[in-house]
Amino acid sequence: MPRAATPALVFVNGTVILPDRLVRGATVECVGGRIRRIGRGRPPRGATVVDAGGGYVSPGFVDLHVHGGNGADFMDGTAEAVRTACQAHARHGTTTIFPTTTTGTEAQLAAMIAACAAVRRERSADAGARIAGVHLYGPYFAPDKVGCHPVAGRRDPDPAEYRRHFATGLVRIATCAAELPGALEFYRAARRHRCLVTCGHSNATWSEMARAFRAGMRHVDHFWCAMSSVASLRQRYGTPMQASMEQFVLAEPGMSTEVIADGCHLSPELLTFAWRQLGARRLCLVTDANRALDQPPGRYRFGCAEDGEWIESDGRVGFVPGGGALASSVVGLDTMVRTMRTATGAPLPEVVRMASLTPAERVGIARETGSLAPGKRADVLVLDRRLRVRRVFVGGAEFRG
Ligand SMILES: [Zn+2]
Ligand SMILES: [Zn+2]
Repeated sequence: MPRAATPALVFVNGTVILPDRLVRGATVECVGGRIRRIGRGRPPRGATVVDAGGGYVSPGFVDLHVHGGNGADFMDGTAEAVRTACQAHARHGTTTIFPTTTTGTEAQLAAMIAACAAVRRERSADAGARIAGVHLYGPYFAPDKVGCHPVAGRRDPDPAEYRRHFATGLVRIATCAAELPGALEFYRAARRHRCLVTCGHSNATWSEMARAFRAGMRHVDHFWCAMSSVASLRQRYGTPMQASMEQFVLAEPGMSTEVIADGCHLSPELLTFAWRQLGARRLCLVTDANRALDQPPGRYRFGCAEDGEWIESDGRVGFVPGGGALASSVVGLDTMVRTMRTATGAPLPEVVRMASLTPAERVGIARETGSLAPGKRADVLVLDRRLRVRRVFVGGAEFRG
């Protein structure tokens, strides 16, 4: 276990980012891998002092939706791939990560979950972002909203299969398109397993969303991407026009969603609209990053190394070769935070909240992490004044990978 922090680790000379305010010149004191207090004054004798250099002391980021990085996709299904991706995202400030499945065979999904479980158990200081659970994302997508994911690996929810995945105890976020046969049963099972239950890659109507909500669904994956709209439902049902997932999320206070704020998927106006309409407590920043993160432009497999769909990265975003449709991001949560800040002008505590406390709350781990508060794990970042990641601490141990 990372216990390198004893006797004390103290962050000084920075502006501390709390969920509701900035505190200039405060110190963050950590002991035994936990935050002890946020205060003023000199560090205790013998403490290890971390000088923030006039920048920011921020909570570590929490990523609910992420496929890979630095050449590895979690669906590669090996411990080595999982480690590589967790380390890559730690360099971008993610200290808590939910490796995300895509479409694939049951064996591929089981291998991915097993690899994540193995890496979670071995837990060392250089492991990078800590795995808090797996996001069972594919394979239960709507046939007309599969996007860049491998089509052959899509299917309707199969209780025999998902019960085996849930039985691992590792799945903490579970996605299914609301209109699929068996979706409601899936949602109820996911809720019983304490998952954040989400609808994604879906062409659902308002009434399908309302039924899903009653079954426990509370979140929608990557807002405006691979989801229904008034226009897409008009194609399905004609007139009168139907309300879509978008209207349901905006209108239902119990719902949250997430945006890919890489500057390529959504315009600044849409990011601003999402923040203004939903507020920082119902909106998460996610990377949805694929293996091309921190890799040169080129062709990459999305999903499993053997049979994933080919996508292309230009170094800024992933896209489907030839077609031009976007295929997930290639940047880290630090970029999302900076882009969201610039695009919306939202106060920095709110922007950081969307990348830390809000996702932690939605998935039920906010007592452990997500903000700088006494008793929580010492997942702490030092950012410079331009919000670039300078140092990363996971459970009080510095990540130097
Ligand atoms: Zn997706
Ligand atoms: Zn995704």
